[in-house]
Amino acid sequence: METPNTVRDRVVLLALKYGIAAVAVALALLITQSLQPTVFPTPLFFAAIVVSTWFGGIGPGIFAVIFATLLLDYYFVSATRTFSVHPAALLYLAQFSFPALLSSWFVKKRKDAEQALKEARDQLDVKVQQRTAELREANQQLQSEIAERQRAEQAFHKTQADLAHLTRVMTMSELATSIAHEVNQPLAAIVTTGDACARWLALDPPNLGRARESVARIITEGSRASEVVKRIRGLSKKTTFQKSTLHMNELIHEVIALLDAELVKNKVRLKTELDPDLPLVFGDRVQLQQVILNLMVNGIEAMNDVANRARELSIQSQKADPGRVQVSVQDCGCGLEPDQVEHLFEAFFTTKPGGIGMGLSISRTIVESHGGRLWATTNPDHGATFQFALPISDGSGS
Ligand code: ADP
Repeated sequence: METPNTVRDRVVLLALKYGIAAVAVALALLITQSLQPTVFPTPLFFAAIVVSTWFGGIGPGIFAVIFATLLLDYYFVSATRTFSVHPAALLYLAQFSFPALLSSWFVKKRKDAEQALKEARDQLDVKVQQRTAELREANQQLQSEIAERQRAEQAFHKTQADLAHLTRVMTMSELATSIAHEVNQPLAAIVTTGDACARWLALDPPNLGRARESVARIITEGSRASEVVKRIRGLSKKTTFQKSTLHMNELIHEVIALLDAELVKNKVRLKTELDPDLPLVFGDRVQLQQVILNLMVNGIEAMNDVANRARELSIQSQKADPGRVQVSVQDCGCGLEPDQVEHLFEAFFTTKPGGIGMGLSISRTIVESHGGRLWATTNPDHGATFQFALPISDGSGS
C-alpha cells in the first residue's frame, strides 16, 4: 500500500510531466506562428514531443502528439481556425502524427536504455565498492597471517638455535674426558717444565740458557692449553647466528684439534686429504664446526666394536660441481642398515644406548640453512661415508 503522501507526490509529479508537455507544445505553437510563413509548421512540434517524452515518459509523449496534432489541425491545416476533418487534412495530420508517435517511442526506448545503463553502472559501482572492501579485508587478514607466520618462524629459528646449542654442549660433555686430557697435558708439561726451570736457576752459577728454554716451552704449552679452552668455549658458547666467509680446512683443523685426545683414546687413526686450493664458503663458523664435529664423533663411535681391522677415520675436503665445496667423513665402522638410511636424519632416531638422535637432524638443518646438502652412503667394504656440500662464497657476503 502506498502512503497518501507518496500518492500525492506521484499525482504532483504526473501533473508536472503533463504540464511540461502542454507548455512545450504551446511554445512550439507560439514560436511557429510567430515565424510564419517562413518556417514549416511541424518541426518545432516534433521537438516539443521529444522534450515531453524525454522528461515525462510515454504518457506525456502521446499526450503531446495528440495535442500537437489538434493544434496543427486547428491553426495550420484549416485556413479558418476550425478543426477540419476532410481526407486531405486527415492525411496531412496522419503524416505528422505517425512519425511523431514513432519518434516518441524511440525517445522513450532511448531513455529506458540510458536509465538501464545508469542503473547497471550504479550496481557495478556498488559491486566494485563491495569487492574492494572484501579485498581490503582479505588483505588485512593476509597481512596479519604473514605477521603471525613470521613470529612463528622466528620462534622456530630460536628453538632450533637453542636445540643446536644444547646438542653441542651435550656432545662436548660426552667428550669431557678427552677434553680434560687435552687441557691437562699442557698443564702437566707446564708444571714439569716449571720445576726444571727452577732447578736450572738454583744451580751455581744458574744455567740461564736452559732456564730460558724452559720458560719458552712453558709459554708454548700455556698457549696450547689456552687454545684448547678457547675452542671449547667457542663451541659451548650460545652465539647468535653469524655468517662470514670461511675456509673449510681451517674449521676442519680446529675440530680435529678438539678431537685429538678422543682419537687417541679410541685408537682411531685419522687420515686427512684436504684440498689446499679450496674456495671459501659463506656461513656460521660455530654451526659448521658443529656439523663436522657430529660427523667425526659419529664415525669414531661407529668403530667402537671394530677389533679385526685398523680403525681409520678419513676426512676429505674438495671442490665439487656446480660451485660447491664438499666435505666427506668416512669410517670403517658398523656401516648403515638399508632400512636405517632413510631415518638417519630424522629427529630422535638413534641406535645407540645413550644416544638422543639429534646430531644428524641438526646437522642437516644447519647445512640446508646454508644452501647445502648432507647425505650418507654405505661404503662398499666397511663403514659409512657422510658428505656435505656447500655453495662457495660469491664474495658478496650474502
Ligand atoms: P646419536 O648419535 O645421538 O644417535 P645422531 O643423529 O648423530 O644421533 O645419529 C643417529 C643415528 O645414525 C645413530 O644412532 C646411528 O645409528 C646412525 N649413525 C650416525 N652416524 C653413523 C656412522 N658413521 N655409521 C653408522 N651409523 C651411524
